[in-house]
Amino acid sequence: MARDMETADFVVIGAGIAGASVAYELSRHGKVIVLEAESSPGYHSTGRSAAIMSENYGSALWSTLVTASRGFLDSPPDGFSDVPLTQPRGAMFLACEGEEDKLSEQAACMARRAARFELMTARQALSHCPIIRADLFTQALHEPDCKDIDTNALLSGYLRALRAAGGKLFTNATVQSLKRENGLWLATTTLGSFSAPVVVNAAGGWAQHVAGMAGLPHRSVNPYRRTAILIDPPAGGDASRWPMTFDVAETFYFKPEAGRIMVSPVDKELSVPCDAQADEMEVAIAVDRMERFTTMQIGRIEHKWGGLRTFAPDNEPVIGADPDAEGFIWLAGQGGNGVMAGPASARLAAHCAVGLSIPQDIAGLGLTYGAVSPGRSCVRGS
Ligand SMILES: Cc1cc2nc3c(=O)[nH]c(=O)nc-3n(C[C@H](O)[C@H](O)[C@H](O)COP(=O)(O)OP(=O)(O)OC[C@H]3O[C@@H](n4cnc5c(N)ncnc54)[C@H](O)[C@@H]3O)c2cc1C
Repeated sequence: MARDMETADFVVIGAGIAGASVAYELSRHGKVIVLEAESSPGYHSTGRSAAIMSENYGSALWSTLVTASRGFLDSPPDGFSDVPLTQPRGAMFLACEGEEDKLSEQAACMARRAARFELMTARQALSHCPIIRADLFTQALHEPDCKDIDTNALLSGYLRALRAAGGKLFTNATVQSLKRENGLWLATTTLGSFSAPVVVNAAGGWAQHVAGMAGLPHRSVNPYRRTAILIDPPAGGDASRWPMTFDVAETFYFKPEAGRIMVSPVDKELSVPCDAQADEMEVAIAVDRMERFTTMQIGRIEHKWGGLRTFAPDNEPVIGADPDAEGFIWLAGQGGNGVMAGPASARLAAHCAVGLSIPQDIAGLGLTYGAVSPGRSCVRGS
């Protein structure tokens, strides 16, 4: 049944981690409505991630936002969650001969942000992860403070706090049109109409589509599919404490996950926004790489899935006010960092939405509004 028009100070489109976190931040500044197309929040990318927080993952500015998010994830505000949001995991980055410079660059970046790491030989890395083929690698970077994130607790915490502040989440509310009239954005959805002077585009893989609905010129923010599988750990051993293990050439990663091992061939295939599925060829590649770079033999695949990761052409965040549409704020282009950088990126987007200067701690790490602006030339395609 169609609802009467509901008004607010902010309408947020999308209830993945981006939408939920920015809605939480904005609820300090006014009434927030979140519109989600699916029947439950977090159904798309947010519910399909590896749920890792690493300060050595993603582009320069995304990893800066991870550093700025660490405090919230490790020590959320009182009452935010009944369970810890993070658990120790550790990460290991492996370099083959000729790739050692890449590890040194990563170490230098981490040192600048005071993130802890240890460089070691591939043989020494076996003490952390005994299944790697140490003969195929020369060096390793161990990141002891990499954590597993309880994504569900994080998402629920944001949405619970939003409701407590008077905000509302509407599910099954697909935004079908978006237009600006008399200083207000009017969002027409499958559930009814909603309006607010400020709209936040937190639609993940659909961010470009939502901008198009608002009448904006083309913005280059595109979804790419990634495939993941779950396999059984080797019999007889305890895999639960292995670190998240990557190769620096970015051809695979694996991590313990609820008694099993999650593996990804780290595919990045341009996609339309959709309910992404695992790609069968990439499933076979994941198995092959796991058997090539570790001592494991893969039997059954317990589960496989696909998810979208959305990128600007420079892989950096797309956060802030669109220069071509008043009151239209972006929180998009999260790539593989959306969960771990959620808290700081949401604060940044919320500050921008209410006209505040960049949060001091984030500015202190060297990030500017300009560097992440949706108006920068690579996003506008100019
Ligand atoms: C395999 C894989 C592993 C990953 N591992 C990690 C990791 O370890 N750590 C990490 O931090 N990140 C990781 N990521 C990335 C992370 O999942 C994303 O960056 C993050 O979830 C993006 O969140 P989002 O809220 O922008 O998108 P989504 O979670 O996709 O949310 C967008 C929402 O917008 C809604 N929507 C779209 N259009 C409309 C509309 N018209 N009306 C209403 N609602 C709409 C959608 O239904 C959706 O729920 C991984 C991703 C994948 C695929």
